[in-house]
Amino acid sequence: MKKEAKCIFCARLKSEAGLLLTGLEGHICAQCVEQAHQMIHEEFHQKKEVLSQDFSGLKSPRELKDFLDQYIIAQDEAKKILSVAVYNHYKRLSHYLSDKEEEVELEKSNVLIIGPTGTGKTLLARSISRFLQVPFTIVDATILTEAGYVGEDVESILTRLLQAADYNVAAAERGIVFIDEIDKIARKSDNPSITRDVSGEGVQQALLKILEGSIVSVPPQGGRKHPDQKMISIDTRNILFIAGGAFDGLERIINNRLNLSAIGYQNTLRSVVEQEEILQYVSPTDIRAFGLIPELIGRLPVISHMHSLDEKALHRIMTEPKNALIKQYKRLFEMDNISLEVTDKAIDKIVKKALIIGLGARGLRGICEKIFSDFMFNIQKTQNLLKIDEIIVEDQLNRKEKSTGYKKAS
Ligand code: ADP
Repeated sequence: MKKEAKCIFCARLKSEAGLLLTGLEGHICAQCVEQAHQMIHEEFHQKKEVLSQDFSGLKSPRELKDFLDQYIIAQDEAKKILSVAVYNHYKRLSHYLSDKEEEVELEKSNVLIIGPTGTGKTLLARSISRFLQVPFTIVDATILTEAGYVGEDVESILTRLLQAADYNVAAAERGIVFIDEIDKIARKSDNPSITRDVSGEGVQQALLKILEGSIVSVPPQGGRKHPDQKMISIDTRNILFIAGGAFDGLERIINNRLNLSAIGYQNTLRSVVEQEEILQYVSPTDIRAFGLIPELIGRLPVISHMHSLDEKALHRIMTEPKNALIKQYKRLFEMDNISLEVTDKAIDKIVKKALIIGLGARGLRGICEKIFSDFMFNIQKTQNLLKIDEIIVEDQLNRKEKSTGYKKAS
């Protein structure tokens, strides 16, 4: 007897299900088709909702810059360039969502920020993500290796973004990734074919796929891909990538190019260049000469640079931003009913010390910890007012240096 046809989804027989649609490999009942349609519809709309909710009233670049000014001292140029890039990026995203057939394809504008360590590159990227309230993650390019080698696959970048988005794929797909130390994966030699460069060019090649915008299979828990693991597909088209690096030695490359191309105008050009920071003249050719491959540079079309922070900027960083170090310490002491006062001269001393260490603003916190740790330890003994002047700063730092065995820096 001929077997009665049944739905391959719910296994109901034709006599129970009524209408059955017949495909090459089996049948499906009308109810299952209906349900599947509803699920697809819901998924699509949910995704669209997440994507569009924050950007309907997208703030202007000027508003974004004003926001950044509250957290980041100096670096006006970088703040401006990034504000525009981010604005365009999310404008492009709302266009992409508007269902209209676009004649002009708006290309993605990932950003490359060049500048010494501790000048605010990460802070800039983090502040933007806070402003937009999108998932944000920082990855260190130095831990990435080509698939098959010890280290992390580049897909792990997306795993982290997914984790930052609480595994909400749609939210992750419009997040921001900051790739730190991108300069450390520069090609080491000029001849790419002879030596295999596991941590350099190979990683750059692998990064291309993610940066340009494609569907990438991501292991949800990170680690290496293996065949049994369930993968999550992430569309990277609308993820904004911001890459940062110190690019030590880039100045020399720019200098050489400028002097070479300015035969006859050398003197005037040199004097201008000497007065200002050379990094502002950076071009994609310089970055290529540094060791990034042209395809990768092409996918980081917006280039910006950060200035080294001078004494004045560091002083402002200590006191002005919304979460400035001094404000943080004041709050900590206030919680124990102690009002903290730090004199301008004391801050100057801390700043001078930070300049000697040479880690940009990053050195400030460590120095402050040394100064304040004893007072915090003996907080019960501290009176209602704690005044930190330059003598106390000097004294604390000298004592800490002696106890750790470090030589006092002159
Ligand atoms: P980079 O990524 O350039 O190495 P970071 O952004 O990580 O530097 O800076 C380290 C810390 O120094 C930040 O968390 C911040 O507290 C402080 N900082 C650096 N630059 C600035 C700046 N321009 N304005 C305010 N704070 C800054």
